[in-house]
Amino acid sequence: MRILIQGAAVIKRPEEGVIPQADVVVEGRRFAGIFAPGGAGGDFDKVVPGEGKLLVPGFVNAHTHLPMTLFRGLAEGLPLQEWLEQKIWPAERKLTGEIVYWFSLLGLAEMIRTGTTAFADMYFFMEEVSRAVEEAGLRALLSYGVIAPTPDRIEPELKRAESFVREWHGAAEGRIRCAISPHAPYTCGPEVWKEAVRLAKEFKIPVHTHISETKREVEEHRERHGRSPVQWLEELGVFAVPVLAAHCVWVDEKDIDILAAHNVSVAHCPSSNLKLASGIAPAWAMLQGGVNVAIGTDGAASNNALDMIWETRLAALLAKVRAEDPQAMPPPEALRSATQRGAQALGWGRDLGVIEEGYLADCVLLDLGAPHFAPGHDPLADLVYTACGADVEMVMVGGEILMEGRELLTLDEEKVLARCRELARKFR
Ligand SMILES: [Zn+2]
Repeated sequence: MRILIQGAAVIKRPEEGVIPQADVVVEGRRFAGIFAPGGAGGDFDKVVPGEGKLLVPGFVNAHTHLPMTLFRGLAEGLPLQEWLEQKIWPAERKLTGEIVYWFSLLGLAEMIRTGTTAFADMYFFMEEVSRAVEEAGLRALLSYGVIAPTPDRIEPELKRAESFVREWHGAAEGRIRCAISPHAPYTCGPEVWKEAVRLAKEFKIPVHTHISETKREVEEHRERHGRSPVQWLEELGVFAVPVLAAHCVWVDEKDIDILAAHNVSVAHCPSSNLKLASGIAPAWAMLQGGVNVAIGTDGAASNNALDMIWETRLAALLAKVRAEDPQAMPPPEALRSATQRGAQALGWGRDLGVIEEGYLADCVLLDLGAPHFAPGHDPLADLVYTACGADVEMVMVGGEILMEGRELLTLDEEKVLARCRELARKFR
């Protein structure tokens, strides 16, 4: 299959600005070249008109829990611990594989519509999540979330996590990769972490976890262990493998140095951190300290959207307030965190995240015709500060078009919505 995306403005790499007009050729799963308008020779199986549109690398949601679309709007106004203990965990006990499958499809439909092409997810019933991802056509780093507060839970939980990796790592023609996920330092002890590292080494996969999300969690950890969660994990040897750490809201300078010195990526989830009143992560300080900071929405129960363009805007704005500097996280840096750095965080850094010959063809086309894109002085600033997911018109993952003209091609959206509305009734 040879596809021409014709005449769009193109952001190849955010740090290089915007090419006003170009022809982008996709062959098979990868980009085959970027040419001046009319410069791409040969025949095409398909031409996607791009005039008046902006082509950007696909957004990478570096941390979410897809099936939690079920809980959107179900438990509002609570801090993290109460939210989990009183609302989310009891509701999760009522989950079945079927429910997880349908609400994963719902989340995937929302992600495609808002320009996400790849994401990292940790949850339960991951076989069902994987099945949904396989059908929808996105790229994902998936893992079973290990929660082992008591010693008897350790072995069965790790077994489940490992058997999921054995079954799904590399599935869907390589679009699905797996991680190993101790949920957090406060839900998993040293034994779990050490075994997770062993598995990560054996399968050459990353560890995906939550670190230092709330002040209370970090204070309790310091009381119990005499050091921060980041320092504790480093001493346990966890950072010897690539780690994707969600949140990192309450990290100090020493923590940031440790994260930067190892192959640790942070999934900055600003909406979730604001909504649960967890705080504002020092995303710009981490980036400047050399940490690979990506952006995630977290689950829809604590966001409540899965719109990565909104999330990027929020990250860019909060970075300025936190750093007290309007130059903090300028649009190109925000966009890099939402694309390239996300790809690196998911372990796809070498062949994903930019629009260049040889890279996997994951990209989205935004319609610039709406009033909020006029007059168009700075399309990069417009994309980060003005756009929203609903501006996305075409989505491509690995050369396959998942949405065109705002119509989903891989999912029956009406059926997904109807089924989810019906299944949600028993959770009210
Ligand atoms: Zn999370």
